[in-house]
Amino acid sequence: LPADFQAALPVLEKIEQAGFEAYFVGGSVRDHILGLPIHDVDIATSAYPEEIKKIFRRTVDTGIQHGTVTVLIDDDSYEITTFRTESGYQDYRRPDKVTFVRSLEDDLKRRDFTINALAVDKNGNVIDKFDGLKDLDNKIIRAVGKAEERFHEDALRMMRAVRFQAQLNFKVEAKTAKAIADNAPLLSKIAIERIREEFVKLLLSRSWKTGLADFLKLGLSEYCPGFKDQAIELGELLISKDLTFIDEDETWAAIGYVLNLNHSEFNKFLRDWKVSNKVREASLNTLTLVHLFENRNFDLWNIYKLGTDNLTRTIHLCQMQNIEFDYTDLQEKVAKISIKNARDLALSGKDISDILGVKPGPIIGKSMSQIERAIVEGNVSNNFDDLRHYLLSNQ
Ligand code: ATP
Ligand code: MG
Repeated sequence: LPADFQAALPVLEKIEQAGFEAYFVGGSVRDHILGLPIHDVDIATSAYPEEIKKIFRRTVDTGIQHGTVTVLIDDDSYEITTFRTESGYQDYRRPDKVTFVRSLEDDLKRRDFTINALAVDKNGNVIDKFDGLKDLDNKIIRAVGKAEERFHEDALRMMRAVRFQAQLNFKVEAKTAKAIADNAPLLSKIAIERIREEFVKLLLSRSWKTGLADFLKLGLSEYCPGFKDQAIELGELLISKDLTFIDEDETWAAIGYVLNLNHSEFNKFLRDWKVSNKVREASLNTLTLVHLFENRNFDLWNIYKLGTDNLTRTIHLCQMQNIEFDYTDLQEKVAKISIKNARDLALSGKDISDILGVKPGPIIGKSMSQIERAIVEGNVSNNFDDLRHYLLSNQ
């Protein structure tokens, strides 16, 4: 057993000593078998939440109505979820009813893909009821049970399929793929935040092109904001250079670029996807910079105003899109800009008013941006005396 499982072993043992079953399940099992790094270890058990709370001294009711209790031991915490079945997915998303059960197999049956439906016991034995090991071996994403039904229960699973495809560089098995193509419209039932989370994970993966290709081919894109009838444009991403996106901000800027959106269209697009304000702003400025560079506009004041923090990302995106210019030269020039924003000026508004002998007013603000720009363009350095001199001689 890997170290993460080893550390959690006493939890499994304690549950078993109390007369219940407990296993490692889900993504950590899949990733362990693939030899990938494990993040959060999930534990599933036959014990009901109230029973788990009796076994451990320190617990938190994380999602007790869904059967999840967090157990705290020393400085570690473990999420323990009672075996459950789900029923009555009337709205193609969440189940109407969660039922706690005592059988591991029933719990594994409700999971999305065979590779996610494996369990490991305390001795390291793998419980594989749906040939998940074989699919892991053959690099296949296959729905547990009838794919069509599984996507009717929860349409988000279609997005999860292409996301795992991108993360693992697997193929979606034929029947599962057909069921996605047939049921793609159900994606419109799913909250955009949940679709976005899967979509961003897909694009930030190593094999994002494989995942994106199926996202387009299977028609999922048609039911996402701003993507209707845009499969050809989005497909341009597939012929960009084989680089991995740096961050979420870059993925959106890349999409804005191939969709050929102007600033206000792109802003609306990002709002429709409910992207966070921080990401939205960085993506908007990045795309603006890409457009400037594409038009051979390397004005330092522009670049500074749009945020020098966006430069690395912008240059990376330009490389992906084969927009060519002397990157190093530009980076060197920008690196010489000694301030990040007006707060870094070595002169305050009060200083300016003293130096020029004028009362606070619009003139101060104007002088401020004048010296800010002079610093950015390398015409004066950011220290009190030089700025004072510059101010007096440029009135
Ligand atoms: P990640 O590496 O992203 O954490 P994961 O497989 O652990 O991948 P989670 O969303 O953390 O994914 O879910 C944990 C497990 O719960 C999955 O492995 C799967 O067995 C099950 N699961 C999660 N979401 C769904 C879903 N929408 N439908 C069915 N089973 C699901
Ligand atoms: Mg997980």
